[in-house]
Amino acid sequence: MTAALEVRDLVKRYAGGFEALKGVSLDIGAGEFFGLLGPNGAGKSTMIHCITGLARPTSGTVKVFGNDAVRGYRRAREAVALAPQEINLDIFLTLEETLDLHGGYFGMSRADRRERTAELLEAFSLTEKRHERTRNLSGGMKRRLTLARALMHRPRLLILDEPTAGVDIELRLELWRYIEKINREGTSIMLTTHYLEEAEQLCDRIAFINHGQIAAQGTIGELTSGYGVSTLEDAYLELVGRQELSRSHIQDAVI
Ligand code: ADP
Ligand code: MG
Repeated sequence: MTAALEVRDLVKRYAGGFEALKGVSLDIGAGEFFGLLGPNGAGKSTMIHCITGLARPTSGTVKVFGNDAVRGYRRAREAVALAPQEINLDIFLTLEETLDLHGGYFGMSRADRRERTAELLEAFSLTEKRHERTRNLSGGMKRRLTLARALMHRPRLLILDEPTAGVDIELRLELWRYIEKINREGTSIMLTTHYLEEAEQLCDRIAFINHGQIAAQGTIGELTSGYGVSTLEDAYLELVGRQELSRSHIQDAVI
């Protein structure tokens, strides 16, 4: 079976010369729920941008369901969707218009857009709000709409960039339920997070990234035994050091 994602020796050097990715390789199987876990600045968003065509790799290859993200970018882009770290909805559009417009970018027919919009609004409990402008939504509804929009063109791989950063615990649990359902229904998922419990709860396999390099990857069992520790938290501490972890906790408390 073709892998959902195949990244080989990916290097990304930004214009100023800073190397945010230093030769990263990873694979995500079809149907898998994969977590990319690492502290702020590790290179998670950079990797996602290289996968989704928002950044051009300096060297190395990225394939989404066998389609090269640079040379076969049209097909690669059809196969993948991104729910970005920052909510970027157009505040003047209604919910229906938001989804319809996105479907239009992907060349979906009018009838298909209408059907898919109704289906997704229902799935994310947003049908009643369909004629509201997005600026009138609560934070949780905005997050749900962002997920619905990403799914509009039926991507086979959904990438979630820190979907729950800075959201309260209740909303985090609610988003987890939606995300788990998306995966159960067959969509492969790559999730980046710096919340250990999020990766622990949701992911089949996890990669640790730090300073633009993958330090380890595997199931939780493989990671803990690889580091000779008993919990994912201890394995992560081995990677980033206690200082880094306490710093990220302080940041979360401030948000
Ligand atoms: P993460 O998503 O893991 O927090 P990023 O991929 O956003 O990390 O950033 C990785 C590193 O690359 C950071 O040191 C960041 O400052 C740097 N970086 C990100 N975007 C740019 C850019 N456009 N130009 C230069 N450096 C960048
Ligand atoms: Mg990021």
